[in-house]
Amino acid sequence: MIKGKYTKKQNPSGWGDQTKLVRGGLTRSEHGETSEAIYLTSGYVYDDPETAERRFNGEEEGYVYGRYGNPTVTMLEERFRLLEGAESCYAVASGMAACWGALGCQLKAGDHVVASKALFGSCYQIITSILPRFGVTHTLVDGTDAAAWKAAMRPETKVVFFETPSNPLLEVLDIAMISDIAHKAGAVVVMDNVFATPILQKPMALGADVVFYSNTKHTDGQGRVFGGMILSSAKFKEELLKPFLRHTGPTLSPFNAWVLLKGMETMKLRVEAQSKSAAAVAEALASSNVIERVYYPHHDTHAQVKLARQQMKMGGTMVGFDLKGGKTEAFNVLRKLKIIDISNNLGDAKSLITHPATTTHKNIGPDARKLMGIKDGNLRLSVGLEDVEDLIADLKEALKGS
Ligand SMILES: *Cc1c(COP(=O)(O)O)cnc(C)c1O
Repeated sequence: MIKGKYTKKQNPSGWGDQTKLVRGGLTRSEHGETSEAIYLTSGYVYDDPETAERRFNGEEEGYVYGRYGNPTVTMLEERFRLLEGAESCYAVASGMAACWGALGCQLKAGDHVVASKALFGSCYQIITSILPRFGVTHTLVDGTDAAAWKAAMRPETKVVFFETPSNPLLEVLDIAMISDIAHKAGAVVVMDNVFATPILQKPMALGADVVFYSNTKHTDGQGRVFGGMILSSAKFKEELLKPFLRHTGPTLSPFNAWVLLKGMETMKLRVEAQSKSAAAVAEALASSNVIERVYYPHHDTHAQVKLARQQMKMGGTMVGFDLKGGKTEAFNVLRKLKIIDISNNLGDAKSLITHPATTTHKNIGPDARKLMGIKDGNLRLSVGLEDVEDLIADLKEALKGS
């Protein structure tokens, strides 16, 4: 959008992910600033009334209002679009705004959604309690079961929705298989790719139509701001997302967009380093005699390890484990940790651990937790950037005698 003399013409089609993350979408003002500028403005002025009229008619390129667009947000959207390899990208205020936007923009009364039962708590609430108020019905399935997906499809099935790996049990679903079943039934595949990140997994290449993110997680990765992103075809963005989001208003702050642009520069380095540490942590936990089960997509003990290795470049930054001693022991371990913080956020430079049954997955209730297989002894660890030896020592000490 900004075509000053300092903005280089980009030819990113041959670029690797890391070049896209540092340079993708970069535009510079007439001042030639090195770093991306923050355009912290809600509105825009015009030279004359004719210009304003042309902009509002869509006859002239340019911004009209912060809820419709902003140059810092545009840079972020273009950078993320290139990373994902999508036609279009729309940035919003949070991951949940992205989830609601991706679903709400296309669903209407009478439509049906088929979703995996292993969902992030708030996504589960949208499907099972908010959408039904608007006359949208749903069927929840075991996402690993192809026959269950097929059996759930109806003529009015409009959307197929899932996440992989899932929160918090890191269940891995077959994106190509589910997309194929959905497309044969005429449904749109909407996928939450938060846990894998676009660094480790590219769902669109496997058939997903719409992919969304919480940028609050690995994109910022340093615990500062909220953000969300919806990737789709250009047609989906123009015809469905734009009218829905412009008028309902989950606008991303330009300041947050700037923080996320800077976060993207180091995102690949962080995600890869954290995933490497997470794999080592999973391996160390697997030999503990107080742990019943470890959940890590690339660990040999994972139920879908073969698929996880095909679908994801690395196993990701998240590790789950069930303690034999249930909630009491889970709380004991949390209390004893000296480095790892108790927090329900994830994807951060700081290692964070949470007890899903009493935090992220409390609101869905005991029946839904049982359905999802979330036990009272389950802990979910987001592995950060600390020295992995220190993290393993912290965990081993906390697990001792528990
Ligand atoms: C955090 C998260 C979300 C929601 O994102 P917010 O930025 O917190 O609104 C959605 N899905 C998954 C898997 C998440 O981890």
